[in-house]
Amino acid sequence: MDRRHFFQSSALVSTGALVGCVTPGVAQQTVKTPFTVPQVYVPIVGSDEKFPVRRIYCIGRNYAAHAREMGSDPTREPPFFFQKPTDAIQYVAAGTTPDHAYPPLTKNYHYEAELVAVLNKGGRNIPVEKALEWVYGYTLGLDMTRRDLQRAMGDEKKPWEIGKSFDQSAPIGAIHKVAQTGHFTQGAIWLKVNGQIKQNANLNQMIWSVAEQISKLSQAFELFPGDIIYSGTPENVGPVVRGDVIEMHIDGLPNLSVKIV
Ligand code: MN
Repeated sequence: MDRRHFFQSSALVSTGALVGCVTPGVAQQTVKTPFTVPQVYVPIVGSDEKFPVRRIYCIGRNYAAHAREMGSDPTREPPFFFQKPTDAIQYVAAGTTPDHAYPPLTKNYHYEAELVAVLNKGGRNIPVEKALEWVYGYTLGLDMTRRDLQRAMGDEKKPWEIGKSFDQSAPIGAIHKVAQTGHFTQGAIWLKVNGQIKQNANLNQMIWSVAEQISKLSQAFELFPGDIIYSGTPENVGPVVRGDVIEMHIDGLPNLSVKIV
């Protein structure tokens, strides 16, 4: 089969295979499946609707002091992004401290406290001046990281999924609509372990603002409603062990807590 024929066949097959999935623009139809795969949702504060998560994007090294502690030069680096699978989400209700399982394979499990922006519009090449119009709301989240595996893969110039994109690696709070909170361009972001402050910074120290992240991402990927963006962590990331309680805070949002078990 030559390439052209292959792609034509693929297109025909795809038309059938996509039926019933959530790909935007594709008609929703009922399809028989041997099992179901759940859509991931995050509750929306003050609403009986839930936010359907399409993709989780994360920006790397977006605070200068964190970039330096990771061994890179923040002044010369364009933004870069990676993804976590949507089912990496662990929803954490405000006022609760659910168990968070220490994951396999690592001996150096790190927290990263991050502001999360969630989108309800899609597009390509979104101008930075208008990009905040794409934000439906905000919440806070942890970009949990198997740092030893991330570093080892980086050292070998291999993809770092195993360090970043594993099960339960994205604890997240409920979504607060922009209409109720406004945009989060400044304000304290901190993280405590067992009551001791570990990370303590201000959102205005981001190298690339949320608006710039949306604009840059939309040059590389077509964005869609349901995409969410973990906007990077400040300096002083560090390890947790079983029994530790993580509490994180962003001014204007309820705190998020998990217990490592
Ligand atoms: Mn991160």
